[in-house]
Amino acid sequence: MIISQQYTLFDKITVKAKRTMPFEHRKEVDLSSCNTLGLPSVCQYIGRFQSVSDLQHAFEFAENQVVPCFVMGGGSNILLPEYLSGLVLFSSDESIHIEGEEVTVGAGVVWDDLVEKTLKTGLFGLENLSSIPGTVGAAPIQNIGAYGVELDRFVVSVEVLDAQSGLAATLTADDCQFQYRDSLFKRHPGRFVVTRLTLKLSPRFEPVLAYQDLQNLPAQSIASPQAVRRAIQSLRARKLPDYRIFGNVGSFFKNPSLSKTVIETLEQAQVIQRNAGNAQGKVSAAALIQAAGLGDLSVGQAGISPRHHLVLENRGGATLTDILTLASFIQDRVKTRFGIGLEIEPQQLTQLVHAPNPKG
Ligand SMILES: Cc1cc2nc3c(=O)[nH]c(=O)nc-3n(C[C@H](O)[C@H](O)[C@H](O)COP(=O)(O)OP(=O)(O)OC[C@H]3O[C@@H](n4cnc5c(N)ncnc54)[C@H](O)[C@@H]3O)c2cc1C
Repeated sequence: MIISQQYTLFDKITVKAKRTMPFEHRKEVDLSSCNTLGLPSVCQYIGRFQSVSDLQHAFEFAENQVVPCFVMGGGSNILLPEYLSGLVLFSSDESIHIEGEEVTVGAGVVWDDLVEKTLKTGLFGLENLSSIPGTVGAAPIQNIGAYGVELDRFVVSVEVLDAQSGLAATLTADDCQFQYRDSLFKRHPGRFVVTRLTLKLSPRFEPVLAYQDLQNLPAQSIASPQAVRRAIQSLRARKLPDYRIFGNVGSFFKNPSLSKTVIETLEQAQVIQRNAGNAQGKVSAAALIQAAGLGDLSVGQAGISPRHHLVLENRGGATLTDILTLASFIQDRVKTRFGIGLEIEPQQLTQLVHAPNPKG
C-alpha cells in the first residue's frame, strides 16, 4: 500500500514539479518514488534541464564536483542502486509543437500524454503504444514497442546532446539504428542525452491489428483510434501487474530471437505454442520461464509476477540485489533447460555515465 501512495505521488506531483523547476541542483534526494520498481535509492545530486545550455551547465557542475552524470525519465525501465554518487538529470522540457503531420516533443513530456494529445489533434499511429509508462526522452533509447508497433516507424529525427563532443546534434531515424528494444543510444550507453523528438504521424486512421490479442476484438473496439486506445488500455490493465501495487519495470527480459530450427524444436516439445514465434523469429521469454518451472520463484521480496512471467515484481522492500539474484537464477535455469540466453531489458543507471568522466 505504501508503494501505491508513492507512485501516486510521483505520477501527480513529481512529474508536475518538473514542469516548473528551473535548472538547479538538490542534494541527497530520495529516488524511491521515482522508479516504478520501488527500489530504495538516494542520489547525491539531482537537477533539471530545459535546454541544451542547461545541460551544458549541468555537465560543468558535475565536472567541478568531480562526479559522474546520469539521465533519467520516469524511472520505469531502470535499476537504481541504494546510493548513487553523482548527478541525476531529468528533462523539464514539456513542449509539444505540431506542424502539419510532424510533432516535435520535449524529452520531459510523459509518453502517454503525447499519445492522447496526438489522437485528440487528429494525428494517428501511436494508439497501439498507449499506456507505456515513462517519458518521450527515453522512448528512442529502447525503441519502445507494443502490440505490433514500434516507435521507429514514426521517427523523423532525435535531437541530442552528444556528451562525448559536448555538441548538440540532430540524428535521423537511420542514424539511430533502431532495432527491437535497441538503438544507437543503448549501444553507446550514456553518450547521448535526448532533448527533443520529432515524429511524423498520419491524418488517416490505419489500424495495425496483426498482433494476436487484437485480432479477436469486436468491431466496435477497433472502429476508431480512440477505441483502439481504449482496447489497448484495457488489455494492458488485464495482462500486466500494476506497478503502483507491486513495483515493476514491465518486461524484465527481452524476447529472444531464435533460429527456425530451435523454434520448431520448442514447438514440438510444446514449450511454446505452434506459430508463436513472430516474423523476426522472436519467441516469448515468458513461455520459456514458465516451461522452466520457475513461475512461483522468489528471492527475498522479489518475485516473478503470477500475472505475467516476464515481469519481476517488488513485493515490498526488495533490494536491487534481490532483483538481480532472481534475474540471474532465471537466466541460469532457462539456459540450462533450453540452451537459450535471456537478456535483461532494463539497464542499471550506474552503468550509464554521461560526460564528463569523473576526474581522478
Ligand atoms: C508496467 C510497465 C509496462 C511497460 N510496457 C512497455 C512496453 O509495452 N513497451 C516498451 O517498450 N516498454 C515498456 N515498459 C518499459 C518503459 O516504460 C519504457 O522503456 C520507457 O520508455 C522508459 O521511460 P522512462 O522515462 O521511465 O525511462 P527511465 O526508466 O527513466 O530510463 C530508461 C533509460 O532511458 C535513459 N533515458 C531517459 N531519459 C533520457 C534522455 N532524455 N536522454 C537519454 N537517455 C535517457 C535512461 O538513462 C535509461 O537508460 C514498461 C514499463 C512498465 C513499468
